[in-house]
Amino acid sequence: MHDSSPDYSDIAQRIKTWGRELGFQQVGISGLDLERHGEHLQRWLAAGYQGEMDYMGAHGSKRWRPDELVPGTLRVISLRMDYLPGDTRMAQVLGAPSKAYVSRYALGRDYHKLIRKRLQQLAERIQQAVGPFGYRAFVDSAPVLEKAIGEQAGLGWIGKNTLLLNRKAGSYFFLGELYTDLPLPLDEAHGSEHCGRCSACLDICPTAAFVAPYVLDARRCISYLTIELKGPIPEALRAPIGNRVFGCDDCQMVCPWNRFARPTEQGDFQPRHGLDNAELAELFLWSEEEFLSRTEGSPLRRAGYERWLRNLAVGLGNAPSSIPVIEALKARRGCASELVREHVEWALRRHGID
Ligand code: SF4
Repeated sequence: MHDSSPDYSDIAQRIKTWGRELGFQQVGISGLDLERHGEHLQRWLAAGYQGEMDYMGAHGSKRWRPDELVPGTLRVISLRMDYLPGDTRMAQVLGAPSKAYVSRYALGRDYHKLIRKRLQQLAERIQQAVGPFGYRAFVDSAPVLEKAIGEQAGLGWIGKNTLLLNRKAGSYFFLGELYTDLPLPLDEAHGSEHCGRCSACLDICPTAAFVAPYVLDARRCISYLTIELKGPIPEALRAPIGNRVFGCDDCQMVCPWNRFARPTEQGDFQPRHGLDNAELAELFLWSEEEFLSRTEGSPLRRAGYERWLRNLAVGLGNAPSSIPVIEALKARRGCASELVREHVEWALRRHGID
């Protein structure tokens, strides 16, 4: 039950203030009409671009109809938290083929817990103002069309690289959502897009994963190949992966709007364990125990040790031949995992060793 007649315009303003106090850079309020995005998703699924990510189609229309996922939902509060670590050498690392490139979002602590906690704190503040109300918090964990919701909430537009872009902040940010039954006033949807005639992201993609503007074939995307794919990485795509061992930022790095991206305010998203400047060969020698202790609370855990080694083997196969590279690969020839062994043999062949 809500208070008899709260002033929802005032509550909406306060939600935005509280959101910023809780570390979010932008807060918007969206309605529920995501049908256009639902149709886009269904065409994408029908084409098979999701690869092994069956979860993308698992919940049907609940994904684009928030009130089917959480009955009673009237609005979605969409929140942006910037994650770009300030002073990293990632552009140099990408250009140094003996080093390991880890996607910028994954260099620090995992964001799920932090954002979920902040969303919970926001809900508590709302509750103090309006009394008990219906809500559910989401961060990248449920069938939620977060970019479409962000666009509807006025946070930006979905660019040709399929990411949400903001004219003042680029695209290096996480999104969180609070589904709510409060009849808050809607923010104006981001009506225009600002990619114009640019196609930099489409042109730079190392594996040519964009089949058209706004359409990504995840099966070719390096983020998918290094994080989601469980089996072997298709051989034809191993060379273009280069030294990217967990995710890829190319379509963001090249985007002119990311000139406006500002460094994160969160200490949690700063690089840990020297992951912003590590040698492939050095990481390849981590034991499973080292992997588990150094990736505790990190997004890298999602790949797991076996896929981590698989990805590093690909990177080492693409690295210039050197004694540390060859020795590191040879040391894993007897690895218990057939998946890793196969990638190690591929990498050694790239260095002329059968
Ligand atoms: S690189 Fe260009 S086309 Fe791609 S998302 Fe950025 S502005 Fe749009």
